[in-house]
Amino acid sequence: MKALTRPTVVPYIAAWSGELQHLRRIVYSKHGGIGFADEAPEDRDQFGVLWNGRAVAQGAGHPRYGEVHPERQRLAMQYLRCQVCGGAPARDSRGMLWLIEDDRGRWAGWPERLLTTHPPICIPCANAAAVMCPHLAGHYVAVRVQDSEVCGVHGRIWAPSAFGYPVRTEMKDVVAYGTTDARWVLAGQLVRSLHGCTIVDLRRDETCDR
Ligand SMILES: [Zn+2]
Repeated sequence: MKALTRPTVVPYIAAWSGELQHLRRIVYSKHGGIGFADEAPEDRDQFGVLWNGRAVAQGAGHPRYGEVHPERQRLAMQYLRCQVCGGAPARDSRGMLWLIEDDRGRWAGWPERLLTTHPPICIPCANAAAVMCPHLAGHYVAVRVQDSEVCGVHGRIWAPSAFGYPVRTEMKDVVAYGTTDARWVLAGQLVRSLHGCTIVDLRRDETCDR
């Protein structure tokens, strides 16, 4: 009898307990919206959006599977790396491989134009995820994507207040670049829109790839 496979792979984008959140004071920015009291140029991306800082110490302490590390997620999404191993994602004539929540039927043509925070994935990691996480079956779907575009961020929304400083709201949302809201979000993940999508069967279609 085959032994049960235990999850031994820690995804590249997962945060570790040793990677502490920096507690930094948030103030009104002179450019509008929010900024850090001790802000440095690297705290913002090329579109001027403020990013949630977190120490980088991959492998320190124990993995926090449910938490995404902002900087590694951003790197994986910006440069299209596998979200699990950080290597090259699978790509063929149908496009790049993505594993996304199964929301079929949400709109006609789904997942065309879907906004996602999940970076792409390679075949070995997609197969390993399917074996190690049986609960993914039925909840996730494999999609080949011809084209994707960085279009915004996901993060905590802040708001102006009567107290002379901005306040944290309970809302986390996707915010598009170039909007007023982009000045009021503390970004935690980069978002891409997916185009030219084909839903594929990992078990049947993908085993010969790479
Ligand atoms: Zn991989």
